[in-house]
Amino acid sequence: MSDDAPYLDPNAPVEDRVADLLGRMTLPEKVGQMLQLDARQDLADVVNGRLAGSMLHASPDRMLEALELVRRNRLPIPLLTADDCIHGHSFWPGATIFPSQLAMACSWDPNVIERGARVAAAEIAATGIHWTFSPVLCIARDLRWGRVDETFGEDPHLIGELAAAMMRGYQGDGLDDPTAVLATAKHFAGYSETQGGRDASEADLSRRKLRSWFLPPFERVARADIRTFMLGYQSMDGVPITANRWLISDVLKGEWGFTGLLVTDWDNVGRMVWEQKVCADLVEAATLAIKAGNDLIMTTPGFFEAAQEAVARGLVAEAEIDEAVRRILRVKFELGLFEDPRPPSADRQRTVIGCEEHRALNLETARRSLVLLRNDGTLPLPHSGGPRTIAVIGPNADDPHTTLGDWAGASGQVDWMPDGHPRDTVQTVLDGFRAVAPADWTITYARGAGIAGLEWDPDAKLPDGQPVPPAFHPEAPDPALIADAVAAASAADYAVVVVGDNIVLSGEVRSTATLELQGGQLALLEALAATSTPMIVVLVQSKPSTLPDSVLNAAAIVEAFNPGMRGGQAVAELIFGLIEPSGRLPISFARHVGQQPTYYNQIRGQHGDRYADLTQEPLFVFGEGLSYTTIRYQDLTVEADELSPGATVRASVWLTNTGTRPALETVQGYVSDLVTSVTWAEQELKAFVQVLVPPGESVEAALEIPVADCTLVTPDGDRVVEAGEFELRVGPSSAAARSLTTRFRVA
Ligand code: BGC
Repeated sequence: MSDDAPYLDPNAPVEDRVADLLGRMTLPEKVGQMLQLDARQDLADVVNGRLAGSMLHASPDRMLEALELVRRNRLPIPLLTADDCIHGHSFWPGATIFPSQLAMACSWDPNVIERGARVAAAEIAATGIHWTFSPVLCIARDLRWGRVDETFGEDPHLIGELAAAMMRGYQGDGLDDPTAVLATAKHFAGYSETQGGRDASEADLSRRKLRSWFLPPFERVARADIRTFMLGYQSMDGVPITANRWLISDVLKGEWGFTGLLVTDWDNVGRMVWEQKVCADLVEAATLAIKAGNDLIMTTPGFFEAAQEAVARGLVAEAEIDEAVRRILRVKFELGLFEDPRPPSADRQRTVIGCEEHRALNLETARRSLVLLRNDGTLPLPHSGGPRTIAVIGPNADDPHTTLGDWAGASGQVDWMPDGHPRDTVQTVLDGFRAVAPADWTITYARGAGIAGLEWDPDAKLPDGQPVPPAFHPEAPDPALIADAVAAASAADYAVVVVGDNIVLSGEVRSTATLELQGGQLALLEALAATSTPMIVVLVQSKPSTLPDSVLNAAAIVEAFNPGMRGGQAVAELIFGLIEPSGRLPISFARHVGQQPTYYNQIRGQHGDRYADLTQEPLFVFGEGLSYTTIRYQDLTVEADELSPGATVRASVWLTNTGTRPALETVQGYVSDLVTSVTWAEQELKAFVQVLVPPGESVEAALEIPVADCTLVTPDGDRVVEAGEFELRVGPSSAAARSLTTRFRVA
């Protein structure tokens, strides 16, 4: 190819470059561009045989090999490299691993999340990866689902705010910045609405329900110019998501004007044949996928032959393939890959991966991600005043893998990090106490119980080629371990008990039927509760579990979820009162699995409000969380109580810190449309703001809610504001907000 081909001119407009290159490509080259293949397969086949335009899961070595192989192709179109760097650069040894997305959501702070994503992007880009499959915009409504940890929780508004922030962090000031990586809005859309929490089952979602709650966060980032979208796995109304032309072509690409690229999920095209059984063969499946508007086809190698065959049989027009390839090439040009394929840079890796500045931001994120759920006054522990002993107990007290959570190191998706991240890069809760406790305090440790055996055959594969997840074998309570733990607790001034779940109980294909603390944990907790030592329970877990009385009656409960590499230190600092607790729950906790779902914004209208044998009230509600002081909310007012549909509700509320410690208060504003033409949620979060309130002081907090956001969706799927009376509820959680209310009218 001559060097003066127009597509090689960096100054030519992107669309012209795309058109020129497209005009030079053969059908196999075009179909190859549509493939995103697994770099752990035969690389020569991936790059030179099937001419794949993109690859994922490349180990550091394979990345270099692939870049070499591309040069051998007739048209050496740069590869687009991708991976799941969903809370940091998951599979790069020693990269900064942040708290899980669910944990980060507890910060309710778009700024800290944006900065974290910027840092992650710098690390990711230094290793030759152009694209991260993050953030997840799924709405977590059924806690049994195994992927709750990957979400920002249950509320569309909060998800939209945090996802937009994360996207800005990844994509930076523009894709031409060498530290920018492509962000992904996934999983489009409705994947989390499972049956019984089972992963990727049929999602019973009408178009109206999608438009009401599931699509808004996606629309938000599409309009903010996120450059990629990824499908989920589910089907809706009999249509596999991969064949959902309405969602993909009409809504995403049409209505929202999305110009980036859409990738399927793992072998979605193959799945229509072997799993969902709506296609007899791959040719039929490839045809459906192309016609629905898919661009990049993840890990279906046979799509290469199938799509060409579909064209040969006249099932698909080459112009339809061109449409997909155009989007893929556009993103490659936007990234400037033809000028600089952005290969790994050993120099940049040395300076950025896990560097001190990134570790510091990670610690700040972990601090902001912790939620204090209960405290009888035991916390904070004194950080001075003479030698004391803390017994740190529990299966997750010193488990580096659960501290990081899914999609990190040894969590099972890749095969080059069997031992996970270097042990000295991860601070477990035990490490945290050792680092933070006053020098004259003694920290003892007892594991106390196990959760589940990690019985795992790394070579066993599911039909789609992904590894078979480890089987769950609960560890029975071990009387010797419990006796050790009880002895440690009895000899201590305080017991910090770290319980939760582990990787066997979370992730893809690992939904749970129950939400209980598994293995020997309940027996351990009961035995510890019987000692007279005050017990502080720290939950290191992928998602909310139901909690036994031994936990509910403990002196304090701290929710950490998977708190990331600096999580242990943050937990110890919080317990010692070196930092203030400020996290708020982005998701409700159930008292019993049978209460599912417990999300707060449910539709009005039900006979009664409880089960015969149990309340319907969640254990902890959306938005809940304590600080080490008390904040009094007073004087909620709105600037105007008659508003036009184009106006903004401007509300103010006074917060008084009646205690002796500062608070970072998350003021939450919920709107209830009092009478609606169709049934609607009783209330919805529409705004929140974080305010520092020094001890003894009063501070005014302002909330702004555009009336245009106070919408509902009509039976025809239109989002409208209905005239009438609305209630604004402001407070520290979705439940407490109901106590301070005011009204406004929309004309
Ligand atoms: C998951 C996606 C992920 C992809 C690539 C799929 O199984 O659903 O979230 O990005 O694999 O690893």
